[in-house]
Amino acid sequence: MSEESGKNKPLEIDYAPPARSWMESAVEFRKGTYCYPAASKHEKYLDLPNPREWQPTEGDWKLPENWKETVLKGMKDRLKRYRSFQLFLDICVRCGACADKCHFFIGSGDPKNMPVLRSELLRSVYRKYFTLSGKVLGKYAGARDLTEKVLKEWFYYFFQCTECRRCSVFCPYGIDTCEITMMGRELLNLLGCNINWVLEPASNCYRTGNHLGIPPNAFKSTVDFAVDEVKDITGVQVEVPINRKGAEILFVSPSADYFGSPHWYTFLGYLLLFHEIGLDYTWSSYASEGGNFGFFHSAELAKRLNAKIYSEAKRLGVKWILGGECGHMWRVIHQYMDTFNGPADFLEAPVSPVTKTAFDHARSTKMVHICEFTADLIKNNRLKFDPGRNAKWKVTYHDSCNISRGMGLLEEPRFILRNVCPEFYEMPENTIRERTFCCGSGSGLGSDENMEMRLRGGFPRANAVKYVQEEYGVNLLACICAIDKATLPPLLEYWVPGVEVGGVHELVGNALVVKGEKERTTNLRGEPLDSSVSPSAPETVP
Ligand code: SF4
Ligand code: SF4
Repeated sequence: MSEESGKNKPLEIDYAPPARSWMESAVEFRKGTYCYPAASKHEKYLDLPNPREWQPTEGDWKLPENWKETVLKGMKDRLKRYRSFQLFLDICVRCGACADKCHFFIGSGDPKNMPVLRSELLRSVYRKYFTLSGKVLGKYAGARDLTEKVLKEWFYYFFQCTECRRCSVFCPYGIDTCEITMMGRELLNLLGCNINWVLEPASNCYRTGNHLGIPPNAFKSTVDFAVDEVKDITGVQVEVPINRKGAEILFVSPSADYFGSPHWYTFLGYLLLFHEIGLDYTWSSYASEGGNFGFFHSAELAKRLNAKIYSEAKRLGVKWILGGECGHMWRVIHQYMDTFNGPADFLEAPVSPVTKTAFDHARSTKMVHICEFTADLIKNNRLKFDPGRNAKWKVTYHDSCNISRGMGLLEEPRFILRNVCPEFYEMPENTIRERTFCCGSGSGLGSDENMEMRLRGGFPRANAVKYVQEEYGVNLLACICAIDKATLPPLLEYWVPGVEVGGVHELVGNALVVKGEKERTTNLRGEPLDSSVSPSAPETVP
């Protein structure tokens, strides 16, 4: 199905193996399945190699003359620098345990979307130029030359991997195909072969501090607007400090929280929560983005975009950092920030000012996830809730890949949801927690031009949502990732109409009983509360 061919035409999935061997078949850039290349102005802005206008469907990709040497040299450098890269290329035994675990293979039936074969696209070139068996035996050892045809395959399939790492959970050797994709993308970047939906947000970040390109004055206006909206709904006047030096805590969230929908309601939820507990905190108009699209391009760009978080914490003189609902933001923070831009010795190990709980696990990064923070408040009985205000929702929870597999945050969001919602239902066990299915649009693939591939990749996630919709009447998919909040609504609209998407802190904000508030007649979306449903104790269901 292409974008033009109509949303209602069902996707067909053909699992029949192709007649020709994978090495012989060439990639086909079919509309609806690939991402547009980055505009040269963004590559120039970020000072990246070979900026130019080009199209994947054109025969001539306008590569630099020495492109082959550049890629092989880049591969050699990375083999030396990243031991995991060399290891993952060497140890795969092609057992196939990962083959049917990728949502893109399940949704497309394309064998090159099997993680093992996706890696083989690059591994075959590694064998040819960096192993004795590959040099001597060639294709009999699974080796092949680096050609333009191979390069085009890399572009197509490494931008059809959402770097979700589900395959790694099932690999008996722990091979992380995501890391091979990351290396593949880095090598493509050496030739200027990037996609626009990665580089435009990254260059926006350079100009304004956030992916959406919102300048500081517009950021302030949107905050003012939110303050008015909170007042209308709850009667409570919240204070939202920006760039306040000497605050105890710097709060950083993805920019979509204060500009996108349904993210906006999560934003209102944060403001109410911070008001209720009297948090001494500040936003920053420069570190106005927690997300990091540089991570989908290269370690170097990820590091450059991440630097502003510690830099602003230092400038503002805060003690520690609290972070909002985002997915890949947390993979970068949890696994890379400390070595990218730390150690942040000028900060203190985080301690909740309300409960005095020490977040020991964050003593290195000095940054705590909002779900950890809120779960701790609830556990210590510091918040009062009226879950009946969420009675219109039968809720299930989507574990965002980077949060669940990247940082192991599994129970806190569930603990919160069980306290603020009357009805909460889990999707099947093999589709949640570490084995969660990706939204199908992460790692910069959430654009419109590749919608068919997004719907295919998101099919396993949507299928599990459909199960709880049919079984329990679920009508809200809660999540804690800005990309999920943007990309799951069209996915569910296609596969599971009738299920909406919302943030965990939207539901917190709905249920939170705030001192001095007026009687609420609407939820944070402005929808009337169902007065026929009386407030009830949370119902814990498996
Ligand atoms: S499960 Fe691991 S070892 Fe087996 S084919 Fe996949 S990547 Fe290779
Ligand atoms: S990281 Fe995710 S998208 Fe990439 S190959 Fe593995 S399962 Fe597929």
